[in-house]
This record gives sequence, C-alpha cells and structure tokens, in this order.
Amino acid sequence: MEDASSWFGCMVFNDEAMRLRLPKDVYRLLKKTVAEGKDLDINIANSVAHAMKTWALENGATHYTHWFQPMTGITAEKHEAFINPVGGGRVIMEFSGKELIKGEPDASSFPSGGIRATFEARGYTAWDPTSYAFIKDETLCIPTAFCSFSGEVLDKKTPLLRSMEVISEEAVKILHLFGKTDVRRVITTVGAEQEYFLIDKKDYERRKDLIYTGRTLIGARSPKGQELEDHYFGALRTRVSAYMKDLDRELWKLGIYAKTSHNEVAPCQHELAPVFTTTNVAVDQNQLTMELMKKIAERHGFACLLHEKPFAGFNGSGKHNNWSLKSDTGINLLEPGESPQDNAQFLLFLVAVVKAVDEYQDLLRISVSSAGNDHRLGGYEAPPAIISMFLGDELTEILEAVSRGTTPTGRGKNQMKLGVHVLPPIPQDSTDRNRTSPFAFTGNKFEFRMLGSSFSVADPNTTLNTIVAASLRQFYEELRDADDFNTAVQNLVGRTWKEHRRIVFNGNNYAPEWIQEAEKRGLLNLKSSPDAYDTFLLQKNIDLFSSFHVFNSVEVHSRYEILHEEYSKTVHIEAVTLIDMVNRQILPSVGAWSGALAQGIAAKKAVLPSLDCSGETGRLEKVTMLMNELDARCRRLDGLVTEASAYQGSDLSHFYQKNVLGQMQGVRQICDELELIVDQKAWPYPTYGEMLFYI
Ligand code: ADP
Ligand code: MG
Repeated sequence: MEDASSWFGCMVFNDEAMRLRLPKDVYRLLKKTVAEGKDLDINIANSVAHAMKTWALENGATHYTHWFQPMTGITAEKHEAFINPVGGGRVIMEFSGKELIKGEPDASSFPSGGIRATFEARGYTAWDPTSYAFIKDETLCIPTAFCSFSGEVLDKKTPLLRSMEVISEEAVKILHLFGKTDVRRVITTVGAEQEYFLIDKKDYERRKDLIYTGRTLIGARSPKGQELEDHYFGALRTRVSAYMKDLDRELWKLGIYAKTSHNEVAPCQHELAPVFTTTNVAVDQNQLTMELMKKIAERHGFACLLHEKPFAGFNGSGKHNNWSLKSDTGINLLEPGESPQDNAQFLLFLVAVVKAVDEYQDLLRISVSSAGNDHRLGGYEAPPAIISMFLGDELTEILEAVSRGTTPTGRGKNQMKLGVHVLPPIPQDSTDRNRTSPFAFTGNKFEFRMLGSSFSVADPNTTLNTIVAASLRQFYEELRDADDFNTAVQNLVGRTWKEHRRIVFNGNNYAPEWIQEAEKRGLLNLKSSPDAYDTFLLQKNIDLFSSFHVFNSVEVHSRYEILHEEYSKTVHIEAVTLIDMVNRQILPSVGAWSGALAQGIAAKKAVLPSLDCSGETGRLEKVTMLMNELDARCRRLDGLVTEASAYQGSDLSHFYQKNVLGQMQGVRQICDELELIVDQKAWPYPTYGEMLFYI
C-alpha cells in the first residue's frame, strides 16, 4: 500500500474534498456559516448534498445515515438507501439538501428521562457541519445533533456544541480586554487517550459475564498478576501488533490521527492516543475509534473490552481527556506566553479553570460517574473519587506569590507585577510528574484523568466548557470597567487563587492521608455514582446550565433520571447474569465434579476398605460446604433483586449500590474459592490466567 499521506482521510468528506468538489461560492459560504456557527441556507445545503452524494457514490457508498449520539453514550444510525424509483423499474441515486440537514428517526426507544412522554414521541436530527461526513460500511455517515420536536435535546452532541459556543463567547470577551481584538472565536481542543483490553474471542464467547456485562463477575486470581509490571511498554506480540496496524490504517482512512499505541500495565491492556483536535470532532472520532477497536478485534480473533474494570485485581481502563483552549488566531490560551501581557493572560485563564473545578467538583464528578467506573475511581490504579488539581510546584509558587504581592522566592526583592514583569520560566510537563492527580496541568493543557474507558467524552467536556465559561463571565464583569487593567488582573488572579487554592494538591492522590486532608479542606468525596448524581439537582448546578442555555431545568432533570436509571439497569443486569451463571453453570459443573469425586472415593473404599481417603474426603466436604453457602448467597442475591423492584429513581440506584453490589461480591468470593479447588477441566469458564496470559 502507498504511504499513508496519500490516502489519509480518504473516507472523509473533509475540507479538501469540499474545496475540490463544491462551487467556489458555495464552498466559501459553507465555511463562513460554519465559522460563524449559523444555520445553513437550503440552497447551500442542496449544493453540498449533491457534491457529498457524488463523492460518496464514487467511494462505494450505497446508503446514508444521520449518525448521532443519544444519551446511551454510544452512537446510533438508521440507514437509508440513496436509491429512488423513477418508474419503469429504474432507480436514480438521490440525496437532497433537506435530507442532508434534517432527519426524522423514530426515536421512541432512546432514553429521554421522561421528556418525550410529555411532548411528542418523535425526534429529529440536524447536521453538525463542523464535523465532517465520512463513509463507514458503505454508508455515508452524517454527524448530527438529536432533538425532540419541542426542542429539548436528546443527545450528547447538542449540549456539547452549546457549551463550545458559550466558552468561546466568554473567552473572546476576555481576550479583547487584553487587546487581542482580532480574535473572533475560541475553540476548545481535546485529545482523548483510550485504554482497552484484548483477549481471545474464543475465551470471550465462553463467558456470559463478559458478553452481557462487559466485565468478569467472577474469576480467581491467576498465579501471576501484574506485579512485575513487565507488560508496560513491552514489545508488542505479533498478533497484537497486526491488530494495531490494521486499526491505525482504518482510523487514518477516517481522518483520525491515531498516533501512539503501546502496552499498558495490565497484561493484554493497551492504549491508543490520537492527535488532539476540536472538541466536537474529538468526541466523534473517539466514538468511531471505540467502534472500530471492537470491529477490527473480531477480524483478528480478539474481543476488545472497553469496560472500566474487566478483571478484578488488575488495572482497569480509563480515558484521559487532554483539554485546552485555542483562539482562531492560533494561540493556545493555556500556554505560558513570552511577553508580560501574555503571561498575565495565561494566569487569568489558569485560575479561571482552578475556580471552575473547585466550584463545580460535583458536576465534574458526575460527568465521569458510571457503575463501571465506580470499580476504578479510588482504586489504586486510578485517581480517587475526590476531585483535585495538580499544577506543579513552580506554578503553585507563582500563584502564591501573586496572591501575596511578592515575587516568587529567590527572584529578587521587587514585587512581581502581572502584565509588567516576565514570569519565571515554567517547565513544560515531563509527562510523568504526577500520574495520580485527577486533573493535572501538563504544561500547555489540562489532563482530566478520571474518565472511564467506555465513556463518550461529550459529557465531561460539556461540563468543563460550561464551568470555565462561568468563571470567565465573572472575570469579564470585574475587569471590563477597570481603570487600571493590569492591577485589576493582578488582584483578580491573586484573590481567585486565595479563594480556590484548596482544590490544588500536588502530592500523591493515592495516599490514605489525602482523604483526611481533602476532608479538612472541605472538598467533596462523592464515593459512588448515585451519590454524585444526586448533586446534579442542586440549584447552583441548574442555574449554571440554564443561564448558559446548555441545559434547561427540564433537561437537567431528565439527565439526572437517565443517569440513575442507567446505573440501576447496569447493576441489575450484572446481578441477574451472576445468578444465572451460578445456578446454571457453576453449581451443576461443580456438583457433577464432586459427585464423581464421591463415586471415586466409594469405589476405592469398595476395593480396599482400609484405604485412607481423607484428602479426597476432606476436599469433597469442603466443596459441598462451599456449594451450600453459594446456593444460600445466591438466593439472597435473588431476593435483593426482587426487593429492588419496590424502588425507583435515585432510591433504586442507591439500593443497588448499597445492597446488591455487596451481595454480588459475597457470591463471587465463594465462586473464586471453588475455582481454586475443582479440576480446571470441570470449571465452566476460561480462567484469568488463560484469558490474560495466553495471547
Ligand atoms: P501522556 O500519556 O503522557 O498523557 P500522550 O502523549 O500519550 O501523553 O498524550 C497526550 C495527549 O494530549 C495526546 O492525545 C495529544 O494530542 C493531546 N494534546 C496535546 N496538546 C493538546 C492540546 N493543546 N489540547 C488538547 N489535547 C492536547
Ligand atoms: Mg495521559
């Protein structure tokens, strides 16, 4: 195959394709509409649709779909053929501007948190022209937003786009105060590093827990774990390496800049990092990446696991959301600048994020919560459930100095004036400076590390954009009429730091002392997802989202409902799967094996009555006892699942969290004990050792 530069993005109707195929004036008008975030004129749409269709047909597409992101967190599509009958049994290939900009999928089965029950049951999708259309499986996919007919949003893209608008507006106003009047738009950029596991498909297919829930609900430790850390950055095995190459190729065709791949700490765990891009495009691309990871795994005889904790006792998988702000004039607003003015501006944006994270810890926590991620956050491999930020010692010291009105230590006696003096150099991130922080400044961007591997990155970024917009809006109000701008910025940065520095913690987030320290500082420790979700409805949070028109109050309520519901459903499915595995596979298999054991003992005794069979008899006794206990615990679990049906909403998810999960753990414990006693051949599932060490 020719080198990638000649076919990179060949399946994307990208800027170059548009420039080549659209009439000049249409191309210009489309770009302008996109740049200004306006609605698309139907004449432009018709022209774009025509060019897009021609391009798609030339590239083998037969269908098109509005590709959208309902609140399930995965993508949805409904394929329509391009063909239209024209009489005489003939067809023509058609695709109009109307079909491009708006679709009407039957939306009744997507989660809406009750919104659509009160309004109309239909929804519509609308093209997001800032994200390029692409071809996947011979289908032209048009990235779209998804709303109800009365205008409530039913997806993850619409609020994200809104949040990008509001942060742009607020950031531009601040930049104008700094004299950067040529800036018209600020975009947020995201690079989402993605972790995943690959196991053999044959093993996967033998485990109901993986099939139904994405994680192993039982499984005894293997003789070797990840203690040697010999997998991290280790040489890629041939099969895995072939998979990664194939994956890269497919991603590149879709214009996704998959850049680095390497092995992670757990055996069979890997990571893929793309080059960052505009947030909504990064969201779309991450969804596609996850989809392709799974699909291409099949081709190579693998199953790709995106669950946050597929194997107890081994590291889980997360996603790192690298985030920054960039002006349309090309400045990264989180990059320390070279002139005194730029440094002041940098510090102002920096403390805007500090303030936002401190004031809305709860919202950030919600945005990374799920039943799956609960197994990870707070565990040793992932940041704890407490939100804190890492800035590094240099920056922390600078901000301390600004707030005290002195210079950072050792740099002369004069007071450092923002906007007048140059900042001491701030070292660029040496990547490994603090891996334990949930939200780390890494030199020119922030890295939000709490996301779960299966997440859409839409929600965390919607939250992040909106909360930072809120800080910037307040800053603007304070600075707009200042007589002495530099002094006002200095005071504002200093004061904001004093008010919010409690959120900054540069130490080891895994240390048990941090939990007490965080409590002393008054930081939130929302331990479980249901706890986090409950804070969604706090008035300050509803006010925030509604004042920026990201969510109205109805939409916040609907999302709150959906989150609780999703949590409950997830744990419910897990519990029922576990009961099924115990009753229909484990107890019968172990029963048969121990029955044979008993027969064996009896047969030996029949031949030689004086034979000492105490080892085998003891084993039989132990296994039988464990089976009795397992049976009892499983019944109790079943009872709890039945009891759960008396609850709903938040009460239900708390019930599952408090009662059902613990009982599942109790059932698991016995299963794992049994696994280590009975004959490996009699055990109905591939073991941890087989799954993780045999690829
Ligand atoms: P690490 O593993 O140390 O976190 P990587 O190099 O694997 O670092 O990943 C860094 C990620 O950050 C990449 O996806 C990269 O594209 C992204 N990134 C770099 N600069 C920015 C930026 N300005 N905005 C958003 N993401 C960025
Ligand atoms: Mg990272």
